[in-house]
Amino acid sequence: MPDGRPEIEIRGLRKAFGAHEVLRGIDLDVARGEVVCVIGPSGSGKSTLLRCVNLLEEPTAGQVFVGGTEVTGLDVDIDAVRRRIGMVFQQFNLFPHVTVEENLTLPQRRVLGRDRAAAARVARENLERVGLLEKAGAYPSKLSGGQQQRVAIARALAMDPEVMLFDEPTSALDPELVGDVLAVMRGLARDGMTMMVVTHEMSFAREVADRVVFMDDGLVVEEGPAEQVVGAPREARTRDFLTRVL
Ligand code: ADP
Ligand code: MG
Repeated sequence: MPDGRPEIEIRGLRKAFGAHEVLRGIDLDVARGEVVCVIGPSGSGKSTLLRCVNLLEEPTAGQVFVGGTEVTGLDVDIDAVRRRIGMVFQQFNLFPHVTVEENLTLPQRRVLGRDRAAAARVARENLERVGLLEKAGAYPSKLSGGQQQRVAIARALAMDPEVMLFDEPTSALDPELVGDVLAVMRGLARDGMTMMVVTHEMSFAREVADRVVFMDDGLVVEEGPAEQVVGAPREARTRDFLTRVL
């Protein structure tokens, strides 16, 4: 349940690639424990927004705070920021040459300095959480796309992130594999994880999101509860988009 204190604060965020201004002044708060779904047409800046939150992109202007700390400050420790933010992409990016369990233990050992036993314990807890403990010894190529994405989520969770960012986590999956991934995300939301989720899954947004943000052309056009933004949009651009995806 959201408790009111913003976990993520985005203020006047702008991002340009050369002359192309992709984010044109985004203001957005995500409360602790809140799930915000970001929707909008391809090219509207959704991925760039997420990437600015964990500093995969350097903003051109504006500020981002995570847990009250400015991550866009000049003296920020980028690695320390990224450690607090889990990110899951459309492409799962598992390490192909090691087992599922090692996909989870290696980053914990390398980045957090956990010893072998502690890393293994956390790995197994999180594989259990996504329903894949029995695949601990398998190689990623032996798993379905949906299973690989659940491993990618478990790998991010094993780093004890304060927030999770999801960039179209089900867009690369065959339709029959989408449900299991969304179920894992629904469980995370229920457990109180703070989440920003870029998705085209409108039924997921309606069911799970505390708030839906519709972006177009680098701006937030409309935001509010899912039943309003998806169910009864006020803006013509939101309506146009929804008639195309629903
Ligand atoms: P979305 O995720 O909503 O589809 P993106 O944030 O990926 O949108 O992209 C928004 C715009 O920024 C697009 O026009 C895209 O081509 C452009 N863009 C994204 N990343 C880069 C980059 N690294 N260099 C140049 N242009 C980029
Ligand atoms: Mg994108």
